[in-house]
Amino acid sequence: MRDKPPVPPADAGPDLARPSIAAQALGWIEPTTRAIVPPIHVAATFLRDEDNQYRSGRVYGRADNPSFDQVEATLAALEGGTKAMLFASGMAAATACFMALQPGDHVVAPRVMYWSLRDWLLGFATRWGLHVTFVDAGDIDAIAAGVQAGRTKLIWLETPANPLWHVSDIAAAAEIAHRAGARLAVDSTVAAAVFTRPLELGADIVMHAATKYLNGHSDLIAGALVTASVDPYWERLVAVRKQLGAVLGAFEAWLLLRGMRTLYPRVTWAARSAQALADRLVAHPMIEEVLYPGLPGFRGHAIAARQMHGGFGGMLSVRVKGGEAAAIAAAARVRLWKRATSLGGVESLVEHRASIEGVGSPCPTDLLRLSVGVEDPDDLYRDLDRALTRANQD
Ligand SMILES: *Cc1c(COP(=O)(O)O)cnc(C)c1O
Repeated sequence: MRDKPPVPPADAGPDLARPSIAAQALGWIEPTTRAIVPPIHVAATFLRDEDNQYRSGRVYGRADNPSFDQVEATLAALEGGTKAMLFASGMAAATACFMALQPGDHVVAPRVMYWSLRDWLLGFATRWGLHVTFVDAGDIDAIAAGVQAGRTKLIWLETPANPLWHVSDIAAAAEIAHRAGARLAVDSTVAAAVFTRPLELGADIVMHAATKYLNGHSDLIAGALVTASVDPYWERLVAVRKQLGAVLGAFEAWLLLRGMRTLYPRVTWAARSAQALADRLVAHPMIEEVLYPGLPGFRGHAIAARQMHGGFGGMLSVRVKGGEAAAIAAAARVRLWKRATSLGGVESLVEHRASIEGVGSPCPTDLLRLSVGVEDPDDLYRDLDRALTRANQD
């Protein structure tokens, strides 16, 4: 039996491009059986050595699971980080970043961001003692103005951000954070560990709702953090996961690794289709506005063009002429697109976003959020066109 996790075979080469790293999940081979796919480790506990040591490095399943190793190492390699850590959900990963701070600390977060996390910051985190300033994170001056010297410990960004796809300048925000003695964490779920590498732009932590693009098949809930360096903050994050028990199941970790092997072809296909749909929908008579970072007229396009490579992601939103009723009616008529929340799966989803965000949401009521999957883009356009056109003829 091995003491250490297996390492990539030497002939895999040190300079592999990211698609190769993802396709073979670092090329690890299970040393006992020579299997090219890892086993699922379900053990809740590990044998202690006779001299009372734990030389395997593993003690108990809430802290250590061998099924996490290959996923975490692959994700760290894709993001250019030092270490990665899986969580039970994207929310568990995101909230850990705030729980690793102290009550009384101040954080800066986007006014428009993933709704459940904003809700948690306004509720639980605020009651727990964090001070939160929400800013227009598409405006670097607003981020700078939100920082309180000596008090701000974390700037949180999401880019592109739900559901309006605001783009934040990661490099500039990292400079602001570091000048103030704070860290920068980026929810990079929509950039999918493919289009943007926040750590290379100066961010300290990258967060993923692995539920979405990393897994890509809408069949598990998972989250992940990747760190630029192993420092005391990362050690606190490790403790938060272990103490709150926000760990992923072994089977989910295995499924996630399987999903990540096709990450590049899935998300580059989806981004190409999203761009094509956005380009066509801007001219659609029933569409008021298309929100997509890949459109030249979009507010954050210049920043996106600088910090996104290989595409602008698979998420866009459209504002439907005729307001809320027309938007909901259009969503009711799709056949190929599926009416559901979530994003990043192989099947395309449409959602009337304001309905799920509820009272206080900054989401316009005429907005439909589109998660583009890997179907034929012409089929996707035709289905949407028919749904939009018939909705407005009623
Ligand atoms: C889904 C999502 C989350 C939360 O992830 P869960 O796995 O659902 O907890 C966080 N941020 C973004 C951008 C998301 O899309």
